[in-house]
Amino acid sequence: MNLDLTEDQILIRDTVRELCRSEFAPHAAAWDAGGNVPDEAVAKLGENGFLGMAIPEEWGGVGYDARTTTMVIEELARASAALAIMIAVHNSVGAYPIWRFGSDEQRRRLLPALTTRALAAFSLSEPGCGSDAAALQASAVRDGDGYVLNGTKNWVTSGRRAGAILTFVRTEKGSGPHGITAFVLEKGMPGLEVGRGEDKMGLRGSDTVEIAFHDLRVPAANRLGEEGQGFHIALAMLDAGRIGVAAQAMGVMQAAFDEAVRYAQQRRAFGGPIAKLQAIQFKLAEMERRVQASRLLIRRAAWLRDSGRPFTREASMAKLYATEAATWVTHQAIQVHGGYGYVKEYAVERYYRDARVTEIYEGTSEMQRLVIARQLLGRKG
Ligand SMILES: Cc1cc2nc3c(=O)[nH]c(=O)nc-3n(C[C@H](O)[C@H](O)[C@H](O)COP(=O)(O)OP(=O)(O)OC[C@H]3O[C@@H](n4cnc5c(N)ncnc54)[C@H](O)[C@@H]3O)c2cc1C
Repeated sequence: MNLDLTEDQILIRDTVRELCRSEFAPHAAAWDAGGNVPDEAVAKLGENGFLGMAIPEEWGGVGYDARTTTMVIEELARASAALAIMIAVHNSVGAYPIWRFGSDEQRRRLLPALTTRALAAFSLSEPGCGSDAAALQASAVRDGDGYVLNGTKNWVTSGRRAGAILTFVRTEKGSGPHGITAFVLEKGMPGLEVGRGEDKMGLRGSDTVEIAFHDLRVPAANRLGEEGQGFHIALAMLDAGRIGVAAQAMGVMQAAFDEAVRYAQQRRAFGGPIAKLQAIQFKLAEMERRVQASRLLIRRAAWLRDSGRPFTREASMAKLYATEAATWVTHQAIQVHGGYGYVKEYAVERYYRDARVTEIYEGTSEMQRLVIARQLLGRKG
């Protein structure tokens, strides 16, 4: 595995870094306080190809590999984790499955907007089930040349502004992974109701909403894959999505670490900078260890994916390690700041809140341990 960036990757990193420096980072605290990342920020990323990272060029995307995509997500998360999660979800579990599992007709119809200006969302969770996603109860009944959907989904990242929502519903009665089918819902379809937004601890600039289907008619042309293939699609997408969440955690912890180092060199106590105190030095050393180890695990998972090899276990390990590291590093960054870390004037307060959820979505830490154990014990599960 070569850890050097290629010339193309350096160019892409510099482009996204410059966008973050000039357009996003200066506004991240205000987006958090106001509870909204403006559509213009997404449009800026669209203009620069970052909405089509997972889509090949022949279908209007830029066709980045997983290593490049994780690098972009990390850079975005250093500036604004709220913006980063919107872009990560859009690319990895929103737009990508439409290309991967869609027909040419669906690709032609849906991808032009999704690679340039519109966000895609991914809607698997329901009020009654998250980790146990196969217990979902929203349903679709065949009716002529379409389906009629009923049910409620929650926790839909970007659900309010998304142009397309990939959702999973039951086309066969019962429970369990069989009989689940994927559909692409388009904004404004009659019967698709967008409910209240969640009042979240962190990622406050990203909208997370409940959506309800009330006799929502969806043409058969919007079914993704075959009937009953939905759970397989969801799980395949989450493997890749987990590397993206790990990259998001990576960006937040890197930002917190950088702030902690800077602050430790400036803040004085007992006649010198606190960075001279061994207690603070050890804290910084521990933080650096976790930052570096996380990045290596993420690069390895992405590299395996790019090489076409199995990467489920490595994606789960990268997510588990990086997200727990992010929670720990952001916690320590507040400690290094003392009382100033506890107030909104200092960015570490936001980083701490933004990091926490990475241990929960796209599979909790407990579920990642389960995936890793099943993989290493040779059970599918
Ligand atoms: C900000 C945010 C954004 C989100 N965005 C999306 C989105 O865009 N699309 C989407 O579909 N979902 C989204 N989610 C939902 C998220 O994926 C779920 O919250 C997550 O999967 C956990 O499900 P749950 O909340 O129902 O918790 P539960 O599944 O009820 O889990 C509760 C606790 O029990 C533990 N647990 C459950 N089962 C096991 C087990 N077998 N072994 C050990 N421990 C177990 C869990 O780890 C957890 O600690 C989002 C959530 C949040 C908070």
